[in-house]
Amino acid sequence: MSTPTYQKDAHEVHDPEVLSKARAIIEKCSSPKLMQKEVIDAVERNAIWRGEECLNLLAPEAPTSPTVRKLLASEVGTRAAEGHIGPTQRWFAGTTHIDEIEALCVELLKKVFKSNYADHRLVASMLGNLTVYAALTKPGDNIMTIPQPTGGHSSNRYDGPAGIRGLNIYDVPMDPQELTVDLDAFAKKAREIKPRLVALGASMTLFPFPLKEMTQIVQEWGGKIFFDGAHQLGLIGGGQFQDPLSEGACVMTGSSGKTFSGPQSGIILWNDPEINKPITDAIFPALAATHQVNRVAALAAAAAEFLAFGEEYMAQIVKNSKALGKALHDRGVTMLGAHKGFTKTHQVIADVRSFGNGLDIAKKLGDANIITNKNLIPSDKPEDWDYPSGLRIGTTEVTRLGMKENDMETVADFMIDVLEDRKQTEQVRKEVIEFRKAYQKIHYCFD
Ligand SMILES: *Cc1c(COP(=O)(O)O)cnc(C)c1O
Repeated sequence: MSTPTYQKDAHEVHDPEVLSKARAIIEKCSSPKLMQKEVIDAVERNAIWRGEECLNLLAPEAPTSPTVRKLLASEVGTRAAEGHIGPTQRWFAGTTHIDEIEALCVELLKKVFKSNYADHRLVASMLGNLTVYAALTKPGDNIMTIPQPTGGHSSNRYDGPAGIRGLNIYDVPMDPQELTVDLDAFAKKAREIKPRLVALGASMTLFPFPLKEMTQIVQEWGGKIFFDGAHQLGLIGGGQFQDPLSEGACVMTGSSGKTFSGPQSGIILWNDPEINKPITDAIFPALAATHQVNRVAALAAAAAEFLAFGEEYMAQIVKNSKALGKALHDRGVTMLGAHKGFTKTHQVIADVRSFGNGLDIAKKLGDANIITNKNLIPSDKPEDWDYPSGLRIGTTEVTRLGMKENDMETVADFMIDVLEDRKQTEQVRKEVIEFRKAYQKIHYCFD
């Protein structure tokens, strides 16, 4: 059977080669059932490789507990429950038990994060951020957010929800050495443009933000601070990072699949009843309708796990990232924030310019089953996006698999073997698979 050839579609955003490979596979299948099997097989290949054989050092990932995974496949995931919790505020009948599940989720989230209000319906933190911009700004408002090379995320920039809202976006000035906000420069710029909202929190995040000081400044004209805690959510809930809501942020969003280690989705937390209506109006009926109740159940279960294990788990994550930062530094890798103890989060950031660019280095490590991501660092420009100088390395997953500080020495050794070409990539890959065999169980859960 010949493999069909396809015209290249100039409008297609996805890699044309990968798509045409998939089309060829589908064409070769003699029945839809075999097409389905191709999907299942690809999922299985990923589960074995990424789930059992890799050192996953991707900062935005976390393995979920068996109970959370089971709930993600539960029957309730086929049910629709638009609206707010309670018998009169739903479109559909038959939601008695769904109300129970959702109310448990909301109350567990409030308990973990000690907040007055919490919402569980956003399927991603991107939508949490859009909720905040829709609720607390008007098109044409000035806001200040962190630029990407110093850790900012597209959701708070022109190419994401903040841009969709039609906001004028100014940079929060960051100190490239200290990797936190340059307070003097911030005060000067903020007093000049009087932003309605300042977004803090970042994807590349090593140290806390001067939230109290910044809150005092923006209060001069009634501005507000919004904390995008996508990455730090678990660390905050586990008491291992600053507590944005008590330090002046009026609202916080977070990705529940990052350090929080629940199902991938968005949560939003706040204390001030004054912003209750605009926030919940933006959630429903604007940004959530059928909001995946299976995911809500899994989120509630993850929150209960977090109450029992969160503090210990999150503390070990930070201990491990400090240990990994030091181990890489001791082996000659340039680490950001070395003069400040490397990190206070789940991440460490390497400047890999002496070995190559971030894209090639991440690919090479990936070939050895060590998964990281290329990252912009302060010395890069936003247009260096594809070939940045940095590597972001996170310890959430290896921690949940039971690794401790001494294991970080081994992880650093594997990385150096690849970075300095001390061993063949294939050899390191074999050693990583062997090392991972002892770390297959999910810790910090009831299972
Ligand atoms: C990951 C991330 C987001 C988006 O979160 P999703 O849950 O993936 O939608 C938003 N903001 C920051 C700072 C992030 O790192």
